[in-house]
Amino acid sequence: MEYRRYFDDAISKLKGERRYRVFADLARDAEAYPRAVWRRDGLPQVDVTVWCSNDYLCMGRHPKVIEAMQAAAAAHGVGAGGTRNISGNTHPIVELEAELADLHGKEAGLVFTSGWISNLAAISTIGDILPDCLILSDQLNHNSMIEGVRRSKAERRIFRHNDLAHLEELLREAGESRAKLIVFESLYSMNGDIAPINAIADLAKRYNAMTYMDEVHAVGLYGARGGGVGERDGAMHRIDVIEGTLAKGFGTLGGYITGDSAIIDAVRSYAPSFIFTTSLPPAVATAARTAVSLLKQAEGAELRARHQRQSTLTKHALSAAGLPVMPNASHIVPVLVGDAELCKAATDLLLERHAIYIQPINYPTVARGTERLRITPSPMHGDAHVAHLVEAMVDVWTTLKLPFVEEPKIVEFRRDRHPEHVHSEHAQAMMAAMPGGMSEAEARCTFPEFFKRAAE
Ligand code: PLP
Repeated sequence: MEYRRYFDDAISKLKGERRYRVFADLARDAEAYPRAVWRRDGLPQVDVTVWCSNDYLCMGRHPKVIEAMQAAAAAHGVGAGGTRNISGNTHPIVELEAELADLHGKEAGLVFTSGWISNLAAISTIGDILPDCLILSDQLNHNSMIEGVRRSKAERRIFRHNDLAHLEELLREAGESRAKLIVFESLYSMNGDIAPINAIADLAKRYNAMTYMDEVHAVGLYGARGGGVGERDGAMHRIDVIEGTLAKGFGTLGGYITGDSAIIDAVRSYAPSFIFTTSLPPAVATAARTAVSLLKQAEGAELRARHQRQSTLTKHALSAAGLPVMPNASHIVPVLVGDAELCKAATDLLLERHAIYIQPINYPTVARGTERLRITPSPMHGDAHVAHLVEAMVDVWTTLKLPFVEEPKIVEFRRDRHPEHVHSEHAQAMMAAMPGGMSEAEARCTFPEFFKRAAE
């Protein structure tokens, strides 16, 4: 049998559907982030600006986090040396779990090797432990949650995305006495929209259901101590299990759940993907704990404020330039392309012509016809980075003849016969939209294009 052919055919199929993924070979510059070095075979390396990382707050290059990791590696070595049960229950993990339980105001926490594994392990185990459980899962839940739901023997029903009426209908049908687990995300990462957490908790209470919330794209980023949207909305205590990652807002690696000690103990004791795998290295656990702890403090609040500011600035500046930013109330900046090939072409052009790295987001990560660029500003993206991004995106949209929402206003401005009017409209709207405001002086140096004509 010619085995290789099957693999070649499988890859050709992906390429035919424009779904074949090409990874950019990048080396992040910890000191000069968001700068990274991009390498290609046989070509000179190029300095690029990263605009799509999930290290949202740049904790992965925070000097104190790096220092903590180096010290822990020197003290404990680099690997955990075993599963949690067999010699891998290193003290840094025990401390990290306490730190996470405290973050979410829960009795206990449990750390996994990734957020993906934590969802798989926890949802499937909880679904199996509850007798005759019905899992109600949001339509847009992440793959790791879907895998957790599928792996459980529980019956499952999907409710329309963030649709409280549909969720209530399914809860009512199931009846009060049946065990029910509502599984949802606080912040959906591809659209950037936010779940009505308190309203879901109200329904859970009314129909006697358990709740499981994925805060992967919100932990570290929202709430007074970085507990996520649940903390911001005063809802953490109303959710039974809060799941998160250490790999995005906390900049390291690993995933976790927090909740009542009985739930956590049961998952710890029954989940194969927790039990039969080597635990997180102690240096990673120490780095993660340092990041979680830093983000609970005043420095965290400052980083969160700056993160929101730069995200708002980016959204507003792209919109003002006529780019199709998909509106939402979070830090994610999705820009719609709506075609897999054009999406890839746009990101290739951004990288090759403008040294801007944004990975295209195509099916199956998002539905066909909704292919997009997913831009993630960080506190280290300065205003000049934003201005460069806007110029580059306008150029790419113009080159590829992608549709602008309205007339491309920045380009239009350059040719406009009434520059003062455009200047005031855009600059003032941008200044007004900034959290904490933006002075005219700041706006002038951030977007000189808006002011150039007026000054002439
Ligand atoms: N949950 C959601 C909503 C995600 O988007 C992701 C990853 O992007 C995960 C879980 C998995 O987290 P991790 O990257 O830590 O495996």
